[in-house]
Amino acid sequence: MVSMANREALGRMGWILSRMRHESEKRDAPVLRAEAATVDSPFKILVFTMLSSRTKDETTIKAIHRLFPGAKADSPKKILSLGARKLERILYGVGFYRVKTKNLLAICAMLADKHVPDTLEGLLELPGVGRKTANIVLARAFGKNTIGVDVHVHRISNRLGLVKTKKPEDTERALVRIIPKRYVRSLNRDFVAFGQTVCLPRKPDCRTCPINRLCYRIGVTGKCAVCRYGAR
Ligand code: SF4
Repeated sequence: MVSMANREALGRMGWILSRMRHESEKRDAPVLRAEAATVDSPFKILVFTMLSSRTKDETTIKAIHRLFPGAKADSPKKILSLGARKLERILYGVGFYRVKTKNLLAICAMLADKHVPDTLEGLLELPGVGRKTANIVLARAFGKNTIGVDVHVHRISNRLGLVKTKKPEDTERALVRIIPKRYVRSLNRDFVAFGQTVCLPRKPDCRTCPINRLCYRIGVTGKCAVCRYGAR
C-alpha cells in the first residue's frame, strides 16, 4: 500500500486537487450543484448525503429541491409533519426511497429538538447512516479531517495508484495514512466531482484529463497516447 503508492502524485496532491476542481466546475459536476443547495445547514447536508447513497446525484438534487424549497421542509420537525406518504412521494425516484423515507422520519424524530451530531459515534447512531455518510457529513458540515469513501473516491484512488485496495473501508484507512492533513477535508468532494465528469467508471476521459501525466491508470484498459505511465 504505502510502499506502492504513486509518490509523485502524492507529492503534488494540492495541485492535483485544484486541477480536478477546476475541470469539474467547468463540466458542471452534479455534486457541486448539490453542495450549493445544501451548504447552509448540517441538517440539509445530512439529508442530502443519506439520500444520495446508491442514487445518481441528479436524482437526489431533484428530490431535495422538492423537499427543501418545494415542501419547505428544511428542519426535522417540518419533515415529520409531512408524514410518511407525502415524504415517500417527494423522495420517489431516489434509490430505496421507501427505506430512506422510514430512516429519515426516524432521524427527524431523534433530532427534533437536537442538533445534528458532530461526532462519528453520534452520527452512526442515526438510522441508515453508515461510515461513509458520517464521514462526509463530518467533513462538509463540521470541517473535520475525515474522508468519506464512496465508489468514486475508491475508484480514482486506485486508478491513480495512491492505494491498492479492494474495499472502500481499506481505501479510507490507507488514504487517511498517506494524504497530507490539509487536503483530507476536500478530497471527497473533489474526487466525486471529478469521478462524475472526467474519471468516469466505464469510460474515463484520460486523453483530456488534466492530471493524466501523473496517473498510473491502474485497471484502465486501452492505451492513452498522452498519459506518461500508460495503462497497467
Ligand atoms: S488519466 Fe484517466 S484514469 Fe487517470 S485520473 Fe485521469 S481520467 Fe482517471
